[in-house]
Amino acid sequence: MDEIRPVRRRARPATDAAGFPAVTAPGARDVPELDAALVTCRACPRLVAWREEVARVKRRAFRDWEYWARPVPGFGPLDAPLAIVGLAPAAHGGNRTGRIFTGDPSGDALYSALYDVGLASQPVATHRGDGLELYGVRITVPVHCAPPDNKPTTGERDTCRPWLARELELLRPTLRAVVVLGGFAWQALLPVLAQAGWERPRPRPSFGHGAEASIADPATGHALHLVGGYHPSQRNMSTRTLTPAMLRDVLRRGADLAGLRDRPGPQ
Ligand code: SF4
Repeated sequence: MDEIRPVRRRARPATDAAGFPAVTAPGARDVPELDAALVTCRACPRLVAWREEVARVKRRAFRDWEYWARPVPGFGPLDAPLAIVGLAPAAHGGNRTGRIFTGDPSGDALYSALYDVGLASQPVATHRGDGLELYGVRITVPVHCAPPDNKPTTGERDTCRPWLARELELLRPTLRAVVVLGGFAWQALLPVLAQAGWERPRPRPSFGHGAEASIADPATGHALHLVGGYHPSQRNMSTRTLTPAMLRDVLRRGADLAGLRDRPGPQ
């Protein structure tokens, strides 16, 4: 009789070890399990120190808030045909409220646009539990902790990559399009998609507002469509580098490519 060998699981490193995401994320069986592990992550010492410092000092307008001060997971349905990929949580936005793009000017612009194009149940996002629902779209980021000056290092981006790679891999059966907000997200996403099972596009597509690229999924034959758009940062919106109409246009295009606007429902 063959010897039955016990299955040896790779030991999970401590949450503050640099290898914690790379060992933990691939083993998550679904998105809730992934998110439960993600929120314990302390792999980037500079970002952990910053997210907690911001939560201690607070901003005067939010002094009564107990800040989230942890990694911020993606938000939206787990069978979404469309994803939106941004940069990272804002110090007094997602890092305060615990929901991505919630409670800061970028989120105000994004959720208002999502509502206008029929992808959100309400135009405002103030806190978790405010009743906001997304229709067919999940919002996520390549860096899950708020960085100083909204600038993660390339090392922090790479350390965080396994969380997004596994999230997109789990969304892959339904995912058909991604709206990518900003050049940082575009550069971060291409290797993530390769890690999650899509083909690596050659030549590498360039980012621009309205740029499009199509990436093959060798397993299913479905194409994944990427649509680039400027990030709705306060600066881009106030200088009108990105106008509300431009933001709505890229979201509409992403929804079209994802097949969302052909579906009956609350669009
Ligand atoms: S940025 Fe990502 S990898 Fe770094 S501590 Fe936050 S969740 Fe962990």
